[in-house]
Amino acid sequence: MKNFELVQVHNRSETETEVIIRDKNSFLAYGGILKKYDNPKSVYPPDYFEDDGMGSCVLCSKETDVPKDQHIDLRKYYIEGVGQLCKKCFDKIYK
Ligand SMILES: [Zn+2]
Repeated sequence: MKNFELVQVHNRSETETEVIIRDKNSFLAYGGILKKYDNPKSVYPPDYFEDDGMGSCVLCSKETDVPKDQHIDLRKYYIEGVGQLCKKCFDKIYK
């Protein structure tokens, strides 16, 4: 099986990038010009661009009102070893 690793990237233009990759299993390298992909959204998860910085609940995966970059010591409804919960799930567990 091939096990590619990105080695070098040269930006040639808006639409072309030269890429060199190596195969860690066979000690071969590959290089070439890659063209901009026509359908970029298909290679990202559906919510990739919708992230507004709020953490989501690890149980129901609903968005919480707690920012992701807030330190865990200061977060509401955060349980160490479990993760961020929303108020609803937190209350369910601790009441
Ligand atoms: Zn929840």
